[in-house]
Amino acid sequence: MNEWKMRTKSLCPQCLKVIDAEVYESNGKILIKKKCEEHGEFEDTYWSDAELYHKFANWQYEGKAGIRLTETEQGCPFDCGLCPEHKSSTMLAIIDLTNRCNQRCPTCFANAAVAGYVYEPTMKQLEEMMKLLRSEVPPCPAVQFAGGEPTIREGITDIIKMARKIGFPHVQVATNGIALAKSEQFCRDLKEAGLHTVYLQFDGVTDEPYRVLRGIPALKTKIKAIENCRRGGLHSVVLVPTLMKGVNEHQIGDIVKFAVKNLDVVRGVNVQPISFEGRIDESERKQGRITIPDFIKLLEEQTDGEIPRESFYPVPFVVPFSYFVEAWKGKPQLEFTVHPHCGAATYVFIEDGKYIPITEFVDVEGLMEFLEEGAKEIKKSRMGKLKTMAKLVTSGGKFIDREKAPKTFNKNFSSLTDILEKGNRDALAEFHRKTLFIGAMHFQDAYNFDLERVKRCGIHYATPDGRIIPFCSYNAIHRPSVEKAFSVPIAKRNAAAEE
Ligand code: SF4
Ligand code: SF4
Repeated sequence: MNEWKMRTKSLCPQCLKVIDAEVYESNGKILIKKKCEEHGEFEDTYWSDAELYHKFANWQYEGKAGIRLTETEQGCPFDCGLCPEHKSSTMLAIIDLTNRCNQRCPTCFANAAVAGYVYEPTMKQLEEMMKLLRSEVPPCPAVQFAGGEPTIREGITDIIKMARKIGFPHVQVATNGIALAKSEQFCRDLKEAGLHTVYLQFDGVTDEPYRVLRGIPALKTKIKAIENCRRGGLHSVVLVPTLMKGVNEHQIGDIVKFAVKNLDVVRGVNVQPISFEGRIDESERKQGRITIPDFIKLLEEQTDGEIPRESFYPVPFVVPFSYFVEAWKGKPQLEFTVHPHCGAATYVFIEDGKYIPITEFVDVEGLMEFLEEGAKEIKKSRMGKLKTMAKLVTSGGKFIDREKAPKTFNKNFSSLTDILEKGNRDALAEFHRKTLFIGAMHFQDAYNFDLERVKRCGIHYATPDGRIIPFCSYNAIHRPSVEKAFSVPIAKRNAAAEE
């Protein structure tokens, strides 16, 4: 039997040239293989569950970039960006504040000590980068400060304040938590500066995964960091485990349990299956490789089936919601048109000690179809809005099974129109307090790189040279040249600091 396959473009992991690749089905999995004339053949797992791969492929949407900054010259991914070929707007912007770090992860090649230079955009550059992001149409809604370790950048609170002043409705920091664990006052300062969310590196509920991935036993630090966030008023923490086979895949259920225990401050768990940087031994890579469907299956097993595989949908699944709001309000809305195999997510309610995924009581597929049709109807005729409103009132209720819905949901939302009307940030914040977001995004490495994915990327780095570069392209291709162009040798910086 001929199994499914398609052609795409990828990178040679050694010379980073663009080469032809085949993504194909074999024994229930999706694999990627490619051949570089100079460096030979490479094969890797692309998605470990073919059935789920095909299901997710149903939600591929064509979007457009919110800004054009470069021309089409050398071809993707060398024209970043954003170039005229790019197909998604910035849904989350990343800005590295420094490449210095207070941790030495064995897997990290990016920190200043290893790189030999210090990369720290100036305040002026940061301001320009943020203003550029806000000039997109629609404006980029969220910025995440990262690194290195952003909390050791001098003036981080001023940078957060600047982000708020420039107009970002949502500001995040991605951190290992060391500085937060050291000082409750620092957490309070970050909160007062306007920080919304702490993206906390959190690889497990014992010290073992930290020893392997970070080179130190770090669990106590993580717990202390969460405690300080709680006391300091930072009540939106997302736990971010890097998942590696043989290291922490048996702890997924326990990480979710830990999040639920701390639901007063923990809003979500956002898993990142490991990406392999630099040259890595093939057997080591194959042993450690884990993909989104593996995570979903392990979560199902480790929650005794309470969070089943069917609860998860790809990121672009919610695009019809944006279409609907855009048609309703007549204002451009951000569309999450990233590639369907980049990420997966669900929302889970917790009631009487049980997990209730939203998919257990909401017909989410029916609802999205309804919203997509509604958006078309509104755009089609002047009466469309009234007709759609009437349909919402008469048949909106059929998408929700009130008997199966958690009490907290029934109490907060009396109808579908109620949910849509409350669909602003404050109401969503209220909704978030009763639920746990569980998501996964598999950042690409040169082994599984697919240009079709990166062209649709919605997570973008802003760089001091006035570009906006998709995350996976930045890490695979552009990071070294950008950092070198805007950095100083580490010895020179240390000497300047001592003067
Ligand atoms: S990743 Fe996007 S911005 Fe970069 S070259 Fe490809 S299409 Fe253009
Ligand atoms: S960051 Fe990478 S994995 Fe995430 S949306 Fe962009 S291309 Fe996909």
